[in-house]
Parts: sequence; structure tokens; C-alpha cells
Amino acid sequence: MYLCLKTISSVIIFNLVWLRSAWAAGFGTELDSLTEVILLFAGIVGAIAAIALAGFTRKNKPAAAYQSKKIPGVKNISKKISPGDPGLDIVSQINTLSGSKKDRKETVERISNFLNEKIEKEVSSVKQNLTEQYGKIIEEKELAATEALEKYKKTFAEKQQTEGVIHSLAEGLMVVNNKGEVMLMNPAAEKLLGVSQKEKMGQPLLDGAKDEQLFSFVKGGADQEDKEIELTSKEDTKKILRSSSAVIEDENGNTVGMVSVLSDITKQKELDQLKSDFVAKVSHELRNPIGVIKQSLSVILSKAAGEVSQQQERFLSNAQRSLDRLSLLIDNLLDLSKLEAKKTDLKTEILSIENIITEVCENMNIWAKNKGIKLKKSVPPNLPKIPIDANKIIQVINNIVGNALKFTLKNGTITIEARLLKETKSMEVSIADNGPGIPSKDLAKIFDKFQQASGKKSPEIKGTGLGLAIAKEIITLHKGKIWAENADGQGAKFIFTLPLTR
Ligand code: ADP
Repeated sequence: MYLCLKTISSVIIFNLVWLRSAWAAGFGTELDSLTEVILLFAGIVGAIAAIALAGFTRKNKPAAAYQSKKIPGVKNISKKISPGDPGLDIVSQINTLSGSKKDRKETVERISNFLNEKIEKEVSSVKQNLTEQYGKIIEEKELAATEALEKYKKTFAEKQQTEGVIHSLAEGLMVVNNKGEVMLMNPAAEKLLGVSQKEKMGQPLLDGAKDEQLFSFVKGGADQEDKEIELTSKEDTKKILRSSSAVIEDENGNTVGMVSVLSDITKQKELDQLKSDFVAKVSHELRNPIGVIKQSLSVILSKAAGEVSQQQERFLSNAQRSLDRLSLLIDNLLDLSKLEAKKTDLKTEILSIENIITEVCENMNIWAKNKGIKLKKSVPPNLPKIPIDANKIIQVINNIVGNALKFTLKNGTITIEARLLKETKSMEVSIADNGPGIPSKDLAKIFDKFQQASGKKSPEIKGTGLGLAIAKEIITLHKGKIWAENADGQGAKFIFTLPLTR
């Protein structure tokens, strides 16, 4: 308003001054006072009219003219608003406003409210999303933590249980790593070996062994699972332990250690020794009287001591056959006790296994022919000679072939084979028949003393149950292995191996 009045007065004063000077220049005379007042009045009226016209024009300006004066930020907002959104309506309204201050203020307020609402909505939705996600993560974490805790508790309980079992085991248990250092030892093992876990932990078992302790492996090599360990103390008391070991492997199959179960077999060994000594003594004592009876019987049967009736001859022949069986049993028992007591020395020579097999075949051929059984030999040429005690190996093959002849029926075949096993540097000999075979459950036990396989057996098949036990002792003395299998299809197969060198 002030600006308006100031403008009007300036225009009037400017007009008056201009009119005075123009009048003086055009007519050469000064304006009189009345004319001056009239002109002044006309100027004022003109100025007021001009101002009114300008106001009117401004009020009716088209909306397009105003559009060019964009409210800052409105354009950007409109970009973010999708079609059909109430925000679009508001923005276009602003753009078409004719310029009333109140209207614009209201519109800006509406925009601001709209934007606030929008932002609040967005913020609360993001907040909700985040809360949900965070909640889920926390829930999952809590679940994982609970599971881990439960697993830990379970593992811990299992560990304690296992430790309890190991601790209370009557048998000694020892674990060593792949360097042979002791990793675990239960109280029974400590007692058996006379050492404490504390002092042996992380050290090789034999390191710093006390003077009075002498560890010696009496049976079974380092590569065998079952070993017998002899411990001799200063006072000369002997303890024999049996150690059954198993290799511990990691998931990649690498050996990481070994677990051994130790049991005190001193008493059992003493008992076995007593039994063997008794059997050896009795057999030895029986041998002489049996020899005498045998000789006497053959003198009577040869009628050198006088006439014998037919009936007497029959009874005496029966007695002679039984006596032969008894003396065979006694011979076997003596052989076995000597072998078990390691009192048998092997008379080893470097010999051809083929010659040994040929000799057995010649010995057994008459018996085989009588039974209508074919005895086959299958040996490849140029097999290397090996160190063996010929008589002992002949005894083994004789026994196995003899059994095969006992069990195989007429028209059967017995095959004796030999082959070289380069990878184990040994010779393998096998004897297969096509008799009734051996029940699988008896395959291992027939090598024990007095053990015979179950199943039907004809009454003519007699035996002592010692032949295979003797065979096993002989092969073990040669550092070989012996086992039985069921031959393909039918029959039994006995296999033994002998090392190429001693
Ligand atoms: P035996 O004096 O009884 O023959 P062995 O120790 O030689 O004693 O044999 C033990 C047992 O093994 C036999 O009694 C028999 O049951 C079984 N056996 C051995 N060889 C054969 C075979 N070739 N076929 C079937 N069974 C066999």
C-alpha cells in the first residue's frame, strides 16, 4: 500500500514538472495557477485509474502464466507419485492455483500433510519389516543357540558316560597316536603295565620304562592285531598280556593312532602250560606200554607164539586196529605239545614246493584210486624254491589231503594247487575237494584242538580232531598263514601260505 502511494505521488510530481516545462517550451509563457491545479487533478485521477487497471489485469492472469512459477520440490514430488495417487491431484492443484496466498498456503499445508503421512507410512512399514526381520534373525539365533547347547549337553553326557565305561573297564584300554605316544590309558591298563597315565601322557610307552620292566612281544608281529606281551619284573615274576589292537583312521583314511585292549592272560597261559605238560607226560608214559602191546599182538597174530583160533584172531585184529588209532592219537598229542611248547626245531631247507606236492600225490594215489577219486596237481612251471621243513610240510599236506579223501565220495576230484603271490612275497598252496564242504560257522574253529565240524558224517569217517591244529602250528612256525573256505559250488578248500624267504 505504502509502495503504491509512493508510486502515485512520484508519477503526479513527475507529470507536473514535465507539463510545466513543456508548456513553457511550446507557448513561450508560464502556466497560471488554475490550469496547474486542473492538470494536477487530472494526473491524480489518471494514476488511480492506471493502478486499478493493473490490479484487475493481475487478478485475471491465466493459470498458465502462474505455472511457470513452480514451487520448489513440487516437480520432484510429482515424479514420485504414481497415477491415481491423491498426491498427483494436489500437485496439479498447486500448479493451477491462481495465486491467492491463502489458497497456496492451504495447498502447501495439504502437500506437507500428505508427504508427512506418506513418509510416516513408509517409515512405519520399513520399521515393521526391519522389526520382523530382526525378530526372525533373533529367533533363528536363539533356536541355533538352544540346539547347540542341547548338542553340547548331549555330547558332554555321552563323553562322561564313555569315560565312565572306559574308567570302569576290567580290561586295560590304551590309545596311542601315530607317533606311538600315549593319549589315553584307563586305570586297568595302568595297573597291568605298572605305569601311570600322568607320567606316560604324550610319551612313547616304552620311553623311560623302569628297570624292572621288560617288555617283549612273544607272539604276533607288529603288523598283527593280536599280540602277546610278556612283562618280567625284577623279582622274576612274569605277566603275560594279550593285546588286541585296531587302527584309528581319520575321515580321509589316514592312520591317526591305535587303540589296544589289554587283558591279563597269565593265569590262562599257566593253565594251558599245565595241561600241555600233563598231556605230554601222559602221552610219553603211554607210548612205551602201547608199543609193547602192539608188538605182542603182532607176534600172537603172526602165530609165532602158537596156534590162534579164528575167533581169537578176529578179536585180536580189532584190538590191534584200536591200538593203532590210540598210538596215532598219542603221537599227535606229543607232536602238538612239542609244537606248542616251541620245542620243535624246523629243519629248514630251500626246496621246490612242486616236489613236495608230487611226493604227497604219490603217497596218496593208492588210497585215492581205491576210493575212485581223482587226485589232480596244478603247479605252474618255474616256481621259486622256498625255505621249508620238508617233513613238516608233507605232514600238513598229507593231513589235509587225507581229510579230503575221507570226506569226498566216489568219482570226486581233489585238486592241489600252488602259485606265487608276488605282492605278499609268498607261496600259496591250496587243496580243494568236491565233498560235502564245511559249515561256515565251523570254518575257523576246526583249527582248534579236538574240534570237528558239525553236520552229518558217515561212521567210517574217524579222526582225533588234532590234524588241523598240528597243521596250523607247523604253518605258524614257518611264519605262514592257514585257513579254510568253502570251495566254489561244493566242497572244502584249505589254503596256506609260506614266505619266500625266512
Ligand atoms: P580229524 O582227525 O577229525 O580229521 P582234523 O583236525 O584233521 O581232525 O579235522 C577237523 C575237522 O574238520 C574234521 O573232523 C572235519 O569235521 C573237518 N574237515 C576237515 N577237512 C574236511 C574236508 N575236506 N571236508 C569236510 N570237513 C572237513
